[in-house]
Amino acid sequence: MSRELNLILMGPPGSGKGTQAKRLVEKFQIPQISTGDILREAVASGSAVGKRAKAIMDRGDLVPDEVVIEIVRQRLSRADCKTGFVLDGFPRTKKQAVELDKLLAELGRAPARVVALRVADDELRKRIVARGEGRADDTEETAKKRLDVYKRDTQPLLDHYRSQLVSIDGVGSLDDVTARLLGALGAAA
Ligand code: AMP
Repeated sequence: MSRELNLILMGPPGSGKGTQAKRLVEKFQIPQISTGDILREAVASGSAVGKRAKAIMDRGDLVPDEVVIEIVRQRLSRADCKTGFVLDGFPRTKKQAVELDKLLAELGRAPARVVALRVADDELRKRIVARGEGRADDTEETAKKRLDVYKRDTQPLLDHYRSQLVSIDGVGSLDDVTARLLGALGAAA
């Protein structure tokens, strides 16, 4: 494998990308960058960004591109990203993807590799609602909304990334999915 692993984990809400990202963090000793987690921390801390994002997140919409792009720009410039990172939940729009491509080029970094987790809609809705309670946006209504937003704004990115994308089956045990993920990256479990 090259000296850096710049990875984007894509997949609809409920596809398990957060959980799998954590496993890659352990395996490769690179940080997970979850814009959703960073935004939730901003909401909890009551910062200006958090105040701006809360209502948008609660209804399952996307936070404005410039806000998340700035978050990622700052995060990627930190030293712990030097050997790579796992982006989870970013990019979610074409604009974010284009800006990320530019940012990596500017930083002299290798282009991102992209792995997409495939999970059918019915399964996703069940999973999101079952995850429930812990998150303000895990209700049946927002689950549907977030899935719609994914299809409208994020799914088209699979085409943007077609030259660097591998898509894997996201259904099965956590270990099965991790093994497929490592296989897609050309790494041994
Ligand atoms: P997640 O934990 O990735 O499902 O993100 C939770 C919520 O944070 C999303 O429903 C959006 O409102 C917001 N969010 C997270 N990442 C992004 C992003 N890349 N672009 C826009 N909004 C985002």
